[in-house]
Amino acid sequence: MRWSQTLIPTLRETPAEAEIVSHKLLLRAGLIRKLTGGLYTFLPMGLRALRKVEQIVREEMDRAGALEVLMPALQPPDLWRQSGRYETAKDVLFKAQDRAQKEWVLGPTHEEVITALVAGEINSYRQLPKNFYQIQTKFRDEIRPRFGLMRAKEFIMKDAYSFDATDEAAQVSYGKMYEAYKRIFERCGLKTIAVEADTGVMGGKFSHEFMVPAETGENEVVLCQGCGYSANLEKATSRFPHSVLADSPSGPTEKFPTPDVTTIAGLAGPPYKVPASEQIKTLVYVVESKPVLILLRGDDQLNEAKLARALGATTFRPGEPEEIHAALGAHPGSLGAVGVARYPIYADERLRGALDMTTGANEDGFHLRNVAIGRDIQVSHWQDLRLVQDGELCHHCGQPLKIQRAIEVGHVFKLGVKYSLALHAFFLDEAGKQQPAIMGCYGIGVTRTLQAVIEQNNDANGILWPLSVAPCSVCVTPLSIAPGGKVMQLAERLYTQLTDDGVDVILDDRDERPGVKFKDSELVGFPLRLAIGEKSLAAGEVEIKPRAGVLMRVKTEEAMEKLMGLLGCGPARNP
Ligand code: ATP
Ligand code: MG
Repeated sequence: MRWSQTLIPTLRETPAEAEIVSHKLLLRAGLIRKLTGGLYTFLPMGLRALRKVEQIVREEMDRAGALEVLMPALQPPDLWRQSGRYETAKDVLFKAQDRAQKEWVLGPTHEEVITALVAGEINSYRQLPKNFYQIQTKFRDEIRPRFGLMRAKEFIMKDAYSFDATDEAAQVSYGKMYEAYKRIFERCGLKTIAVEADTGVMGGKFSHEFMVPAETGENEVVLCQGCGYSANLEKATSRFPHSVLADSPSGPTEKFPTPDVTTIAGLAGPPYKVPASEQIKTLVYVVESKPVLILLRGDDQLNEAKLARALGATTFRPGEPEEIHAALGAHPGSLGAVGVARYPIYADERLRGALDMTTGANEDGFHLRNVAIGRDIQVSHWQDLRLVQDGELCHHCGQPLKIQRAIEVGHVFKLGVKYSLALHAFFLDEAGKQQPAIMGCYGIGVTRTLQAVIEQNNDANGILWPLSVAPCSVCVTPLSIAPGGKVMQLAERLYTQLTDDGVDVILDDRDERPGVKFKDSELVGFPLRLAIGEKSLAAGEVEIKPRAGVLMRVKTEEAMEKLMGLLGCGPARNP
């Protein structure tokens, strides 16, 4: 590839639209261009890097025994009605109409389509296990597309779906994908952490997210330095002291006026000075149109994923102020559960046995002190409902936990039989009995992975591509391009030779000053630059500069061997 003939529109200035370093570099290095919010065009260099990530994914999926297919992006909404997701996923579904005003769905994922396929094609345990994958464009009506390829409306995903006859076999399929993912991200030069993730109603340990630690990540993961326990914040649990503040209650509950106080912080401030840890936070949620009370310690936050598991429900919402007033007789800020018997009360484990607590009196402008859990509040369900906080102790080993921001690049998930039941993917087992196939689904955000590689590998001058995914491995840089001159002759010869040897090479044949060429090749991040200048050539030398390493002068006739060595390709012919 010749630089003068391709399109690498590098930018000196950072476009205002980009907030994070990887997004800035994607634009500045001329890898992508924005069409409009959440939609991007891949330019030649960006596409080359993307294809390399895809190829690594493909090779590892093939190695793990998965079968590549390609499903339509356009899907009939009836399939989504059958699975129930026409409603539950409606927020992300892009819809389209054809000329007959018939509605279609643009696939955000493909569980429905693959399960319908398997329902038609597989009917015996002898045909299992099977794992189908594709690398394909997905569409999601994201509320907030941002950070370039990280959260786009249209993006490329590798999605795989496993079908097994037994639980044990499904576990094996899951394990294979987990291992394949580790290899994929390693080969892409990405450091990832596999964290336990929420399994929703499934339970068990069959959901892991592959996370790239990064301050700009939209997720938070909880890590134990001691035993290696790791989980995303939704799933994480910790060991914590209970709240008991005294051996026995100090006295009966006592109502006191708290005009203008409607927050935990307000009650913690003067003149009341009740520490948040000695307050009970009362939240009202609505589940199937009935109120449910949630109690947490004042300094804890509710983890909605844990609440969903505790309720065994996926659809619930915080109550509206009017609903809350109708249920408890007071507005948020003065709520409590003392003496409340009409509604289920879910309390976080940390409140177990808590005495001498302060909570709202269910009367606007009043609170109650000396509240004892058990004596004054009848908890109907004890659950772990809180978000883990930095520095709490690991429930496995007791060491402090750390919370770290991260980017989710992949997700492996055991689905069970939800889709096989809904879309009739049954098979006959050994005993001739009809069974639903046990499914797993496995996604990698291919375009997000590409950007995560940049987020993790860059310096002040630009991208530091790992060789495995660099758009080109070598940039041959003649410092004068006079046709027929010695410099250009050697540059052309090395370019041809590298190309013949299967190396991805770009020849910077632009009529630009050396400084411009060097800056651009560093910005785009080619792992090796071979510079040929008149002076050094007269001394029989060329310069090789690894992107992240020090400049080396090598004898002209040794240049090829040196380059191939650096590329890990073994000895090669000399020019
Ligand atoms: P997120 O929580 O980031 O919205 P998700 O959990 O909804 O992602 P999955 O359905 O698990 O995503 O999709 C598999 C992978 O696809 C994710 O791990 C992520 O890498 C990628 N992905 C999801 N949504 C987007 C998006 N809007 N833009 C780019 N990549 C995405
Ligand atoms: Mg996910």
